[in-house]
Amino acid sequence: MDEFGLISKYFAPIAVREPGALGLRDDAAVLTLSDGARLVCTTDAMVAGVHFLADDPPGDIARKLVRVNLSDLAAMGARPRWLLLALALPRTTDDPWLAAFSAGLAADCAAFDVALVGGDTVATDGPLTLSLTALGEGGAQVLTRSEAQGGDDIYVSGTIGDGALGLLVAQGKLVCKDENARNALIAGYRVPQPRLALGQALCGIATACQDVSDGLLADLGHLCTASDLGARITAASVPLSDAARAAVRMDPALLATVLSGGDDYELVFTAPPAARERLEGLEAGVVIRRIGVMTQGGGVEVSDADILRISLENKGFQHF
Ligand code: ADP
Ligand code: MG
Repeated sequence: MDEFGLISKYFAPIAVREPGALGLRDDAAVLTLSDGARLVCTTDAMVAGVHFLADDPPGDIARKLVRVNLSDLAAMGARPRWLLLALALPRTTDDPWLAAFSAGLAADCAAFDVALVGGDTVATDGPLTLSLTALGEGGAQVLTRSEAQGGDDIYVSGTIGDGALGLLVAQGKLVCKDENARNALIAGYRVPQPRLALGQALCGIATACQDVSDGLLADLGHLCTASDLGARITAASVPLSDAARAAVRMDPALLATVLSGGDDYELVFTAPPAARERLEGLEAGVVIRRIGVMTQGGGVEVSDADILRISLENKGFQHF
């Protein structure tokens, strides 16, 4: 059983008591308090060797943990406020590691104007396991995955593929001779940028939105499933960084990694064609690019895959 089958079988039935849980099928829950305020909540865990490399700089590990969680709030159009941190630390964890980890955490709390308000700390014989809960405020409108309409344009923010390629470079599986390109890709993997200003700006414009954590094709697939629609995109229109473009030029098969690798933490969202002008004028700190259209069919079709000779496995990252 995959991650999503497991969640829908064992946990979604328990979540029906709260409509704001969105069936455990969105990036975060949207809980309405009795005075009408909306609390947007998400938890993401990271395990050494799975979501980061055990010898990554500890400050970067902390910052990635914060950022992957804030990315889920960005996907809902929420404003982050508070964090709760649960740590399962190997017994070998030492002071210098904790000092560097907490310094990274403090830096990102300042950068994103959020406060650490609680958590838990335990020891483990297993790998370093980190879990963060992020709480944010939602406005009158939030973004979900389920309201895309047939004929809507599909957009993506920033560039896609740097995280997946950066992991390969960090693991020594991809050789990147250009020092700047190498650093840019590794930085993309270690310290992603949550698109908070964009998410908030999209409230009232986008029909559906989610962040890209498991891979563009898989996550767009989740948006399609939630909206009961399909999507058609062109791979050639997916924005790549200079470093990723150079890597794909060297080895065209890497385009499949770019489209399905994950760890991007960009936003993929939909909006009606009538919103194009508004979106072009949007200033939210990141470039957005139109990559396709929502269709009545099921699944995600990459219309130029044959021409580009890429074979796509669009399942995304599988935990199980
Ligand atoms: P994301 O990649 O956006 O963080 P996930 O794919 O991890 O989302 O999870 C999908 C949905 O399932 C989310 O709404 C998440 O809150 C929910 N979920 C995942 N695991 C559990 C669990 N063990 N119990 C309850 N809800 C869960
Ligand atoms: Mg998400």
